[in-house]
Amino acid sequence: MIKTRFTEMFGVQHPIVQGGMQWVGRAELASAVSNAGALGILTGLTQPTPEDLRKEIKRCRDMTDKPFGVNLTILPTLVPRPYGEYIDAIVDSGVKIVETAGNNPKPFLPKLKEAGVKVIHKCTSVRHGISAEKAGVDAISMDGFECAGHPGEDDVPNLVLLPAAANVIKIPMLASGGFADARGLVAALALGCEGINMGTRFMATKEAPIHQNVKEKIVASDERSTALILRTMRNTSRVYGNSIALKAIEMEGEGKTIQEIGPIVAGAKGKIVYETGDLEHGIWSAGTCMGLINDIPTCKELVERIVTEAEAMIRGRLSKAIAA
Ligand code: NAD
Repeated sequence: MIKTRFTEMFGVQHPIVQGGMQWVGRAELASAVSNAGALGILTGLTQPTPEDLRKEIKRCRDMTDKPFGVNLTILPTLVPRPYGEYIDAIVDSGVKIVETAGNNPKPFLPKLKEAGVKVIHKCTSVRHGISAEKAGVDAISMDGFECAGHPGEDDVPNLVLLPAAANVIKIPMLASGGFADARGLVAALALGCEGINMGTRFMATKEAPIHQNVKEKIVASDERSTALILRTMRNTSRVYGNSIALKAIEMEGEGKTIQEIGPIVAGAKGKIVYETGDLEHGIWSAGTCMGLINDIPTCKELVERIVTEAEAMIRGRLSKAIAA
């Protein structure tokens, strides 16, 4: 067992969190991750309305009696979303862990704290981590440039970002972006973190509620298979480098606006990729850690493998590296 400030504070067995992935973070996956002793996360905005989120939370609770959280990502969307009502749905449903991302969580903290919810804020820079800590969040999930989804605009990978953040952030910190195996977990602990957050790795599991083609494509791809879109709008997103992503980058190069690019990068089209397995139908998020993913295990097999191998590495190769 690897015990950290994170496992203690959040009441989970293993220092592993499942990333809050749009269209993927549904009850099937979140409950499987939580049942494996890690922390599963439902993605709030995957549910079309706050009422649907209430139902999804109930569905997840029917599948696990372990703690799970809900992600709320506050970024520009093509169709405005009522964030406050999603927060109400989370609080009313009695969920005690929330992952905020994409923007300053401060406006939502009073309501969450009053309800006894522990907040993990996901951010991509040291300065944003410091301000979230000052605002009163309980933990930080620090997301390096390697990550899928939104890596921010500073392009600092985790080998520097995590220890730089650990130098100044006092609350427990999770390492996010590029983590997929035991070596990553051990490295994260060494870099000053209390656990890891994995998104893409959990997409390639038996329980992830996405088409088998997507899982197999992740396994077949490598660390160079992603593309960065929406850079020109300062809303960079790392996605699978398919023809749609390349088209979006081309349109950006031509100076096209989000209104013009929106129809091809819309999440609604990415959702169809996950449902039908047509990998060129829209954009879908994937991280550089595809280069480390070679199989499609169950969540339990994956979590147990990572923890067992990490323990063996710490007791074995690392401790033996110290000269007598
Ligand atoms: P969407 O269909 O509304 O938008 C598609 C993409 O365009 C998103 O990346 C969005 O941020 C961006 N966008 C929309 N309006 C914009 C604007 N005015 N300026 C700049 N960029 C704009 O989004 P969706 O796919 O339904 O996703 C819902 C939310 O979840 C969004 O906030 C999205 O950014 C976020 N998301 C996060 C991840 C992740 O891995 N962290 C992955 C996918 C989506």
